[in-house]
Amino acid sequence: MALITKKIKGTEDVLPKESYRWQFIENIMREEARCYGFKEIRTPVFEHTELFARGVGQTTDVVQKEMYTFDTKGGESVTLRPEGTAGAARAVLEHALDNEGLPIKASYFVSCYRYEKPQAGRLREFHQFGIEEYGTQSPVADAELICVAQSIFDRLGIGQLRLELNSIGCPECRAKYNEALREYFGQFKDRLCQTCLSRLERNPMRLLDCKSPEDKEIAKDAPKITDYLCEECEQHFTEVKSYLDAAGVEYTVNPTIVRGLDYYTKTVFEFVTDCIGAQGTVCGGGRYDGLIEELGGKHMPSLGFAMGLERLLMVMDSQGIVIPDNNQTSLYIATMGDAAKVKAFELLRSVRECGLAAETDVVGRGLRAQMKYADKIGAKYSLVLGDNELEQNCASVKNMETGEQTSLALDKSFAEKFSVLCLTDNNSFLN
Ligand code: ATP
Ligand code: MG
Repeated sequence: MALITKKIKGTEDVLPKESYRWQFIENIMREEARCYGFKEIRTPVFEHTELFARGVGQTTDVVQKEMYTFDTKGGESVTLRPEGTAGAARAVLEHALDNEGLPIKASYFVSCYRYEKPQAGRLREFHQFGIEEYGTQSPVADAELICVAQSIFDRLGIGQLRLELNSIGCPECRAKYNEALREYFGQFKDRLCQTCLSRLERNPMRLLDCKSPEDKEIAKDAPKITDYLCEECEQHFTEVKSYLDAAGVEYTVNPTIVRGLDYYTKTVFEFVTDCIGAQGTVCGGGRYDGLIEELGGKHMPSLGFAMGLERLLMVMDSQGIVIPDNNQTSLYIATMGDAAKVKAFELLRSVRECGLAAETDVVGRGLRAQMKYADKIGAKYSLVLGDNELEQNCASVKNMETGEQTSLALDKSFAEKFSVLCLTDNNSFLN
């Protein structure tokens, strides 16, 4: 029979044999976030459309072209989240988290939905890890934010990542800068793409983020925001850089980085790599001091970043970084006969209580096929249980890699002794 359907274009399955890779990077992200004082926030996968229209910004690619928006049966317009910031900000406001003291520090894992042209590193459903901080204007927070991302990359063993840093100032510096941009790009009206033309009046800074090669070329000689920063923004930027210097985080200042959201202010940054092709940005973030007000809250300077998990895994693959598989089965018990099956069931329970993964046959294979299966799933140890072993109340545990055998009594001490054996072997392996 033919399959009734297949997965939707631009979506991916993570299969049981590869999920350990995701768990590994997610655990490191969770741990780093915790070390920097961020606690996880979980928000719904869909929200009222106006949240993203306002929170991401009307003039962004995401809102103009990429959102999955639909009307519910009740006639409401809802949108699958294209990113994690707007939902987190909404929740912070809705639950008045500022009453519990500032700053508010949150981290998140989200699936995101964007109607884009699927290609390597660009999906329609993808996953992000991000952090958000609300209620601080200190440059220390900007530098700390960047350090969280850097620490994660360091712990994952990722190299050849460039941190590109910029400040896009506050609305005041931006007013003058936007004028300069309008004047500059105005000269090229006949060459700019349609989208850029429509943004020239409303948000000319977006033109610096255009992906069309011709527009990119024009953007190269555009005025630089760093020449238009007011004194306060300049000072803020200088301090962010000095904290990064103090932390030993390397960066290059790139005045063309403007980021996707409309409400970014001051610090913006991206971590970029050349080793996975065109979609080389693995993390983007910065400060959005105007966002909370835009969503109806009081003035609350905020900042955050998001990193794409699919792209990160691609980078790790391309750099040959081996991810340890902690999901491997420690013990496979092969059985012969019904009495052995019962005994195996009892032993397995005690081994699992020690936190080790253990399995036995559940599809009725013969002994040889069971051993073959143990080998196939990469079990670290195997044990054969038959009438002999039951009679002697003792069996040999075999290290599948070295072939070494250790005899263990099949009594209450079994699980503990097996755990010790695993640990000792592991340690000698490490030495
Ligand atoms: P790009 O310039 O590549 O379109 P973006 O500016 O739209 O990225 P952000 O909104 O800042 O991306 O999202 C943060 C991170 O999420 C990106 O740096 C990237 O790693 C990842 N990301 C964004 N869009 C996608 C996508 N369609 N598929 C896979 N990962 C994505
Ligand atoms: Mg994009």
